Amino acid sequence: MGNYDVTIIGAGLAGLQCARLLARKGLRVLLVDRKNSLDQKIHTTGIFVRRTLLDFDIPDDCLGQPTKHVTLYSPALRPMEFVSEHDEFRVGRMGQLYQRYLQQCLLAGAQWSPETSYLGHVSTNGKLTVRLSTGEVTTRYLIGADGARSRVARDLKLDLNEEWIVGVESVYEGALMDGPPRLLCFLDPKLAPGYIAWIAHDGDETHLGVGGYPSRFDPPAALETFRARVAHLIDLKDAKQIERRAGYIPVGGVLRNIANTNGLLLGDAAGAVSPLTAGGLDPCMRLSSFAAQVVSEYLSSGNPQALSAYSGELFRARFASRLWARRIASAFDHRQLVELGCAVLRFPLLSKIARHVFFGRGSFPDVEELSAPHLATAGKN
Ligand SMILES: Cc1cc2nc3c(=O)[nH]c(=O)nc-3n(C[C@H](O)[C@H](O)[C@H](O)COP(=O)(O)OP(=O)(O)OC[C@H]3O[C@@H](n4cnc5c(N)ncnc54)[C@H](O)[C@@H]3O)c2cc1C
Repeated sequence: MGNYDVTIIGAGLAGLQCARLLARKGLRVLLVDRKNSLDQKIHTTGIFVRRTLLDFDIPDDCLGQPTKHVTLYSPALRPMEFVSEHDEFRVGRMGQLYQRYLQQCLLAGAQWSPETSYLGHVSTNGKLTVRLSTGEVTTRYLIGADGARSRVARDLKLDLNEEWIVGVESVYEGALMDGPPRLLCFLDPKLAPGYIAWIAHDGDETHLGVGGYPSRFDPPAALETFRARVAHLIDLKDAKQIERRAGYIPVGGVLRNIANTNGLLLGDAAGAVSPLTAGGLDPCMRLSSFAAQVVSEYLSSGNPQALSAYSGELFRARFASRLWARRIASAFDHRQLVELGCAVLRFPLLSKIARHVFFGRGSFPDVEELSAPHLATAGKN
């Protein structure tokens, strides 16, 4: 039976980021995932926004061409163009990035357990015994980075996601499209109820997907219809489909109760996704980096006060306007209404707001800044 300081369940972006930082701090880290290889069953398009690319070390060779063009289409396919003066997005080569971060975890001394499912845990005298499909391990702290429907969250008696959209996409090589790399977003309550359909084309890879509330559409059928509808915009005749991706996206905002003395939650498990844009990669990087700081402080001091900085309640306050925007977006379920909404978006003030949604820098609050007073208190005690 292995003995670890921290056991992390889930080697998506959230788990990997936290594992490599904790291992670099010298903690004994076990990283577990049920996948046998991290480039399989990927749950994301992988669009990284400028703010993440500036603040974190995402290796350049794991990213596609930069994009500064966004086109927003109404249900009747009326386009509205937004062009930024900056490179705003890059689509990650996620399999490659996950593998790279895993190598860094291993180099820093973390143990890696692929093809291993988390089954449960028990807590005795401040030590946790974690039951895995490969056997039992003991750990001082357990981290749930196991995605939107987290089993670890349930077992730790922390909050659970309750509101989701689902996304499904096909990834192609060799698709042809005029013009520079671009992101095309389509508002259509039939094809993507409560969210968007998208084409992310960076010259090398093309992602074509739909997302929305699962009770209101059939995602695979909507994706087929969407593909046919956009045939005049993108030529897929000689393109090769290289992957199909799908997953749940929590959109109820970051959960309130995401940490206790036995463990904490990261990424989708913590509901750390922008309710409006459904972007979760920036929150993964920010929350996981902060968690690594909080957990190492907690384990070295033994002071539970150190965990109070990791408060979903605190981060959630910054989501109020985005949660309202989500309510409004989900209520727009008639095509004519959405068409009208798109026409109104052409007014300068609203167009400025739309531009801010695409190019603003606010996908997730700066958690370290928000928690600074709590960290200071923790340090004093
Ligand atoms: C189709 C789609 C497209 C998206 N596109 C974007 C985008 O372009 N940009 C953006 O910012 N966000 C996007 N998102 C959201 C973003 O991808 C997620 O928020 C982010 O990837 C979540 O990462 P994570 O590490 O928390 O979870 P995941 O990547 O889901 O990782 C969880 C890991 O836990 C493992 N696991 C789960 N249960 C167990 C268990 N019991 N035992 C062992 N292992 C387990 C899984 O195998 C998985 O590897 C998208 C989401 C979807 C579904």
